Amino acid sequence: MRSTKIVATLGPASSTESTIENLAIAGADVFRLNFSHGSHEDHARRHALIRNVEARLGRPIGILIDLQGPKLRVGKFAERAPVLRRGHQFVFDRNEEPGNDTRVYLPHPEIFAAVSAGDRLLVDDGKMQFRVVSANSEQIVTNVETDGCISDRKGVSVPEARLSIPALSEKDKADLAFGLALGVDWVALSFVQCADDVLEARALIGDRAAIISKIEKPQALDNIEEILGASDGLMVARGDLGVEMPPEDVPAVQKRLVQLARGTGKPVIVATQMLESMTVASTPTRAEASDVATAVYDGVDAVMLSAESASGQYPLEAVQFMSRIINKTEADPLHRRALQAGSAGPLADGTDAIGVAIQAISHTVPLGVAVTYTTSGSTPLRVARLRPSASILSLGPRIEIARRLCLAWGVMARTSEVAETTEDIVSFAISAVQANCLSASDKAIVVASGTPFGLAGSTNNLRIIFPAEIERLSAQRHAMTV
Ligand code: PGA
Ligand code: MN
Repeated sequence: MRSTKIVATLGPASSTESTIENLAIAGADVFRLNFSHGSHEDHARRHALIRNVEARLGRPIGILIDLQGPKLRVGKFAERAPVLRRGHQFVFDRNEEPGNDTRVYLPHPEIFAAVSAGDRLLVDDGKMQFRVVSANSEQIVTNVETDGCISDRKGVSVPEARLSIPALSEKDKADLAFGLALGVDWVALSFVQCADDVLEARALIGDRAAIISKIEKPQALDNIEEILGASDGLMVARGDLGVEMPPEDVPAVQKRLVQLARGTGKPVIVATQMLESMTVASTPTRAEASDVATAVYDGVDAVMLSAESASGQYPLEAVQFMSRIINKTEADPLHRRALQAGSAGPLADGTDAIGVAIQAISHTVPLGVAVTYTTSGSTPLRVARLRPSASILSLGPRIEIARRLCLAWGVMARTSEVAETTEDIVSFAISAVQANCLSASDKAIVVASGTPFGLAGSTNNLRIIFPAEIERLSAQRHAMTV
């Protein structure tokens, strides 16, 4: 069983039911619907296809919607792509007329208020760079610092300025309402700058979905502890992060974010350009294989595919390669040592006392799987936080919790009936372990649960079931729902 999960973005290259099914069989655990592209009808159709595939494969599949956030763009130009020369002057202004090689409309008054002389404006993923000479509420006069061309609606970023723009645009709010009505498991927020951005989304989402904060602005790093505290997980969104700060700063930020998130036990995703060359080639570069492996050694919960699975020529091969790289890396003895080196260690409470006990048991007797029973999803996440060597099977009655847990390191989530007693859980555990071929018959399993049931954070019971007892109890197995 693979511990590191795969998030695959769906798009024009992955919109049929058979492609989505093949991606899931190849190893996609969570599908991402990217609301920066496509219509509501496109997303609703893909959502329905994922749920069909989930029912056919008999395992939960997570769905993550990614909101575009306050993406800034320049206006339009009279001719297709005016050429700009380094050293010339270029003006961004409030005049809606089509632009030319000396000026363009910038439809974001917040930028005019926030920039000052010396700041940079980056256009088109940083390909064009402008240095602010002077700014007022009507125009920003800049000096062009790169030769190149500029064209309609290209993205703009202002790395030095902190913009007072709402984190959720009107489009985001409409997309969010649409996604929540479909029923999604995770919502990713783009360009989060502070914890209030997350709290604003939380007020709209409630407990209908869990929240991932995408870290792609340097300002977010100044408030990272608060942002992480307000979120259910993080995404290291390296695409925009590498525009807003120099690309050479991204690796250290990635390591830091992964370490911080692992410390809280909240899932962390490393995203963007992981197998970028596979948009046009059937095999990855050596550097890309190494990049995926690095994230796995660091103990991230999930690695993500964007254009590779959404619009590239080899979506299936990209998922297959990612899965193979993960499997090889997790089989390396160095992987376990690297995971331990990156561990934040147990917290001083009952759940982690049980997590530590599971680890000790796995060093003492052959242990097949650690089973948790959960209604909120908190126990399996806390056990996974310690990155145990035994695989984790999470049982519980709520399908939406099982789907959320598809993103979590090392957790295989399945639904079960509601447990009334510890003996119920033991019985569910044995039938689920056998149904999913999770453990060899000569291995023990452990079952972690909390009594009274249904109270989050009350894990207080650890039961070891040795092979002889498994054999005896499996005669009386309960029917499972999946
Ligand atoms: P995006 O986010 O694909 O929505 O831009 C990811 C990133 O910026 O890396
Ligand atoms: Mn982004």
